[in-house]
Amino acid sequence: MTQDSVLGSQHFPDWSQIDDVLLDMDGTLLDRHFDNFFFEEELPRRYAVLHSLSFDEARDRLMTMYRSVEGELAWTDLNYWTRRVGIDVVAMHKELNHMIGFLPGAEDFLLSLRRYGKRVTIITNAHSTGVSVKVAKTGLDQYVDRIVDAFEVGYLKMRPEYWPNCQRLLGFDPARSFFMDDDEGCLIAAQAFGVAHLVHSARSSSQLPPVPLPQFLSITGFAPLLNGRLPG
Ligand SMILES: [Mg+2]
Repeated sequence: MTQDSVLGSQHFPDWSQIDDVLLDMDGTLLDRHFDNFFFEEELPRRYAVLHSLSFDEARDRLMTMYRSVEGELAWTDLNYWTRRVGIDVVAMHKELNHMIGFLPGAEDFLLSLRRYGKRVTIITNAHSTGVSVKVAKTGLDQYVDRIVDAFEVGYLKMRPEYWPNCQRLLGFDPARSFFMDDDEGCLIAAQAFGVAHLVHSARSSSQLPPVPLPQFLSITGFAPLLNGRLPG
């Protein structure tokens, strides 16, 4: 067992100063081991069989394809990948859904936020098709007020255009909002927009060591967040 810990500490959140809690899905609430395995191992394996390639060749080709649309909506669009790769990745998501699950402590954290009376919104770069498969497996939607996928906003979270559009959609006050994500670019874009309370999820996958970011409050597990000041 690993202790939840603070790796790049600045300060704990003061929950009395926060109305809106914005949470990333994959790598923050859900174990990104599923996504890593899916795109870096299982899809290359099937692509290799389809095109009579070695695993390494297949993976290199897919990685080049992923990079070609990185930061664009197509990057997370499962229908796009089904067409481009020629393999039904939506069906594969359903087939492998036994690997989808919460990161340790995520459900307790969500229940605590509800007790604190916060409005909790999942803001994800994922495509609605992927969100549906994950919600069906985990019941994630029952813990939060709303799930907003990037296609509703029109941009991915690491793009500066995302934040004013998301703010218009949800009506949050950046100065009284909390945002947690495992992706550095998404946190930097949120910071530039003025989101006041930022937290980095340093252990995005249960199968990988934590990767802390020094410039943010960077944590493994949720316990450090619940040690912050509670609403009075
Ligand atoms: Mg993430």
